Amino acid sequence: MKEVESFKLDHTKVKAPYVRAAGVLTRDGVSISKFDLRLTQPNKEFMTSPALHTLEHLLATFMREELPGDIVIDLSPMGCRTGFYLIVWGEPTTEDVALALKRSLLRIGSVTTVPATTEVECGNYISHSLDEAKTVARNVLSRGISTDPFDRTRVV
Ligand SMILES: [Zn+2]
Repeated sequence: MKEVESFKLDHTKVKAPYVRAAGVLTRDGVSISKFDLRLTQPNKEFMTSPALHTLEHLLATFMREELPGDIVIDLSPMGCRTGFYLIVWGEPTTEDVALALKRSLLRIGSVTTVPATTEVECGNYISHSLDEAKTVARNVLSRGISTDPFDRTRVV
């Protein structure tokens, strides 16, 4: 079986919330970086499907706006419902990404509508909760986002 980088992370040792640089791929001089945006503590707490889904819609929009240079390729939910994967062009620092996530979560506090929640635009358009998404965002902001999964002294 091919080894998957994130399966080697010891999920019992990490301290959420954090942003983790999960790897850089470079081919023909072009780099693509992957980050974990871990919002809740693995195996202790996880988001509901509606909260995760609404955060996905909001972060897909806000992270594109908050990371300069139109570098976002993809932002997708983790199947364990504890966070998101972010894939971008280039090699932004973990701090750049953590600060963009912080600004995005702050913006969620004043959101009144969720983008793309019609049957035409979304694959499960009734499964959304802005209230629960706001609660997750608030909890992450109150704990602070670390730029190191193992070190809570590195909160942005
Ligand atoms: Zn959707």
